[in-house]
Amino acid sequence: MAILSTLQTLHHPLFNKHNVRVEIKRDDIIHPIISGNKWRKLKYNLQHVQQKQEFNGVLSFGGCYSNHIHALAFACFEQNIPCVGIIRGEAAYADNFTLSWAKHWGMTLYFVDRKTYRCRHDSDYLAELQQQFPHYFIIPEGGSNKRAITGVSEVITELTQQTEFDTLITPVGSGGTLAGLIAGDALNNITHNILGIAVLKNAGYLENEIKSLLPIAAKTHSKWQLLTQFHRGGYAKFSPTDASRILEFSKITEVNFEPVYSGKMILAFLDLLEQGYFSSGERIVLLHTGGMQGLGGMIERGLLSTEDWSMPKRVD
Ligand SMILES: *Cc1c(COP(=O)(O)O)cnc(C)c1O
Repeated sequence: MAILSTLQTLHHPLFNKHNVRVEIKRDDIIHPIISGNKWRKLKYNLQHVQQKQEFNGVLSFGGCYSNHIHALAFACFEQNIPCVGIIRGEAAYADNFTLSWAKHWGMTLYFVDRKTYRCRHDSDYLAELQQQFPHYFIIPEGGSNKRAITGVSEVITELTQQTEFDTLITPVGSGGTLAGLIAGDALNNITHNILGIAVLKNAGYLENEIKSLLPIAAKTHSKWQLLTQFHRGGYAKFSPTDASRILEFSKITEVNFEPVYSGKMILAFLDLLEQGYFSSGERIVLLHTGGMQGLGGMIERGLLSTEDWSMPKRVD
């Protein structure tokens, strides 16, 4: 299989101090716009839509700054598939960085209140949407479904050709990516330590969601873990110290991160390293899941400054 993203070695004084080897899988640069795990998750979903003549388009769900919505809009634009985004929030958000691009690429946006959005997994609500958008293929929030697991599992298949490693670390939102990595291990008959860093508060419930996404062959994987103590206050929350630690790490390693997912993984990784969590000689791979478009919305809202963070490129 063709390797889709590069693997690169990272250098940092702390890695020498703790005697660990650290590599990073650059899924953030897998595509100029459809970044990281969203590219992996959409791959087989959109292939399915293209192969079946029956579909009129794709419908999915997301928040106002959703990386998934942004990625889906561009992927559908590229493949000429009509798409609809059911967005949590008010229409006033339609002009923000994320959604203005989604619109620009042709996604039709429907804004729903929080109460309606909460029904996004309910069969009644989904049936109603299906009626409103006949023959649209419905992809769950974050893109996390069975086909997404297959797409993400290819990260492991690629890694087995690129390196040998003990431990793989990924950020966790809905858990689809973590499930895909566990599935990838099963597919390749390997058992790595796979650490998922939950970016949401009270993420313990995800453990069952992740298990339910696993194919049967992966259900016996015994070396994966969801770490729930590194959320730093909750989804998209971070302190000025958190932000400057991420920036400092970027400066030393020359790889950029954002503070919602990939940067939170880095902070957790640094904390674990300083706590002596890893063994001497341990070979670690970090999965850079991308998400840099999210910086656009945070800079726009004044949560980050352009002195330190660069606005994502506006590419047509
Ligand atoms: C969506 C996203 C995640 C979370 O992935 P899940 O499969 O939902 O756990 C992690 N990193 C980035 C950059 C994302 O956009």
